[in-house]
Amino acid sequence: MGAGASLDLVPGVLAGEIRAIARLLTRAEAGDDECRPALEAIFRHAGRAHVVGITGVPGSGKSTLVAKLVAEIRRTGRRVGIVAIDPSSPFSGGAILGDRIRMGDVAGDPGVYVRSMATHGSLGGLAHGTLDAVDILDAAGYDIVVIETVGVGQDEVEVARAAHTTVVVSAPGLGDDIQAIKAGILEIADIHVVSKSDQPGAERTLGDLKSMLAMGPSSVRSGDWQAPVLASCALSGEGVVGLLAAIDGHRAALDACGAMAARRADINARRLFLAGEGLLRDAMSRQQDGRVGELIALLDARVLGPHAAAKRLLADIRDADGG
Ligand code: GDP
Repeated sequence: MGAGASLDLVPGVLAGEIRAIARLLTRAEAGDDECRPALEAIFRHAGRAHVVGITGVPGSGKSTLVAKLVAEIRRTGRRVGIVAIDPSSPFSGGAILGDRIRMGDVAGDPGVYVRSMATHGSLGGLAHGTLDAVDILDAAGYDIVVIETVGVGQDEVEVARAAHTTVVVSAPGLGDDIQAIKAGILEIADIHVVSKSDQPGAERTLGDLKSMLAMGPSSVRSGDWQAPVLASCALSGEGVVGLLAAIDGHRAALDACGAMAARRADINARRLFLAGEGLLRDAMSRQQDGRVGELIALLDARVLGPHAAAKRLLADIRDADGG
């Protein structure tokens, strides 16, 4: 497949054509170099969507809540794309049947596009593929792009940080009442949701979370914004209207105080570093047969430490690239 193949999909993606979107998403997820020029073109057209990260431990009710939230977004007439990260799924890309089932009422609605992505357990790979997918849906004209991740690891935190607005979902009855603390995702929340408000213990989880937040600085990334703590019940739909209002309110607050520009710059800085790390990893593995073997021998002999060896490797890569 030549470089033109993915580039040919770009006009279709920009026109919002589902087939072109699906194909480019699949190639982006595979991480082929072949689709880089297309993703570059897409990036230049992205930047209009409100990117909303929704995270929480497994079983906290994220998927159920996202389905309700999506229906609410549609009621306001906006189009919404969802990138759902499923670390447990052995499937990637084509999990369309599952996606349709989980989206319930909005399945088949052309104003909604859902994409599940498996993580394949590769550090850094998740963030890359996911953020490319967000760009594609953004450039395709979806007004809101939701990234749904399981908040359990560094990669997921990384993805949540790539959103303009991050929602952290906690649920009562999962053993540890404030799972967000354990998962290290309390600080990244712009909005807290305690789901399953119909369940015993929901009040307590709400109270615990509020007193926890009162003790520390909240949402340091959003100017004066105080992260609200909302209750929701995905079964009755209670709290879903309020959640969308908080998401819209957060964006308005970011725009009003100038924090949006800072957050965009922050996200772009992270993306630059992520891309740079990816390039470095690739360049280092290309040296696997030659220079790396020699350096490992020097480490084995304790002639050189890893830091000094890595510096030599980087110097070699620079020379190989023509300085
Ligand atoms: P996720 O793993 O965070 O995506 O969680 P799910 O959305 O799959 O929900 C986990 C379980 O909680 C499922 O069995 C849901 O049916 C249930 N659940 C989700 N929301 C609610 C709720 O508001 N009330 C109650 N009682 N159960 C819920």
